[in-house]
Amino acid sequence: MGVYTFGKKDENNAFITILKEASFGEGKLAGIPVAIKDNISTKGIETTCGSQILKGYIPQYDAHVIELLKNEGAAIVGKTNMDEFGMGTTTENSSFGPTTNPCDKTRVPGGSSGGSAAAVASGMVPMALGSDTGGSIRCPAAFCGIVGLKPTYGRVSRYGLIAYSNSLEQIGPMAKNVSDVSKLMEVISQPDSQDSTSYSRPYSHTPEDNIKGKKIGVPKEYFGEGVDANVASVVKDALSKLESLGAEIVDCSIPSMRYALAAYYVTCTSEASSNLSRFDGVRFGPTVEKKRQWHDEYRDYRSKYFGEEVKRRILLGTFALSAGYYGKYYAKAQVAMSNVRKDFLRVLKDVDVIAGPTMPNIAYKLAEKSDPLEMYLSDILTVPANLAGVPAISVPCGKVDNMPVGLQIIGKHFDDETVIDTAFAYE
Ligand code: GLN
Repeated sequence: MGVYTFGKKDENNAFITILKEASFGEGKLAGIPVAIKDNISTKGIETTCGSQILKGYIPQYDAHVIELLKNEGAAIVGKTNMDEFGMGTTTENSSFGPTTNPCDKTRVPGGSSGGSAAAVASGMVPMALGSDTGGSIRCPAAFCGIVGLKPTYGRVSRYGLIAYSNSLEQIGPMAKNVSDVSKLMEVISQPDSQDSTSYSRPYSHTPEDNIKGKKIGVPKEYFGEGVDANVASVVKDALSKLESLGAEIVDCSIPSMRYALAAYYVTCTSEASSNLSRFDGVRFGPTVEKKRQWHDEYRDYRSKYFGEEVKRRILLGTFALSAGYYGKYYAKAQVAMSNVRKDFLRVLKDVDVIAGPTMPNIAYKLAEKSDPLEMYLSDILTVPANLAGVPAISVPCGKVDNMPVGLQIIGKHFDDETVIDTAFAYE
């Protein structure tokens, strides 16, 4: 038992809230400072999701993962910056200002868990939690040169994670190395009756270097159009290294990838439009001037406190779910999602893991990407694992223009262990 005093300077705007003093207990993580993405509920600590609409909201309960961290003695030192409600790929959509990349302050850290990645990469904390709906752990891990795991869907409880897109997202560990990611995963992966999608398959594993004879599938779509040639070449070198360590590289294909982005953006905006309807100006956060009609007040409140990207996605999602269009968009997206899952299952029958780049490029310059559609395209290599519900990790594998590149390793459902082992062998 003790109190951790957190004196580090936040040079990258990685945190929204920093606790100067954090109490800790005994256990596997005794006294270890851990940073938490600001969409994970923390009892008594402001939790904003990077949004003005939740400014001043102090949860009355801990998310399941926070309870587990506290049970193992971790010191929760603060809440990290993020794209508002997890909607973004750069952390520039935060209403608390952008986070900068510790490797090069003129660049973005990736998103949406950019604050957690920057906190780890800059050495402020050894470990952090992020959440990944379509790449939000793996993208910032790749851009900042750290390790980040999106666990199998259902392996970590989402209880207390403020929902963006329930059917896709998972909370997951981020750290400087694979062993620490594995340790954090061991603590947070426990079944939970409060989340109906939580599955009883606790992760309890020490990373092993057992790469010899492992089959690694490399889908040609992961090196397709839009993937930067230098990034592709660094990742190919990483795959050759795995081969030289005894792995067998097998060419394969995920044809349904061409529908993955469309399926992802229809699904996540639809679910977000429904999830975010709870922000009504009555229950959480700030208030607006009282109006005679409740819907006038509701409109004023949401117009004032939601950011541009959140509004855009609520509009898109409401449209996709509206009567007459539901079958055309949402139902079709669900079919495409199940085709992506089938493709992954088919390929993963013959190989142990699938590998490729995490992101098609290195971290962008701040404000480099202003067109939302162009931004959405950069999620092409991360969203398939969320659609399929399979585990995926990003591990640093080299540099382009002095910026880190991430190698993505994707595994079978509930085989986060082989994903971790492959990343460990590489590291
Ligand atoms: N960049 C993706 C999006 O904007 C992924 C976000 C996430 O995983 N939370 O939706």
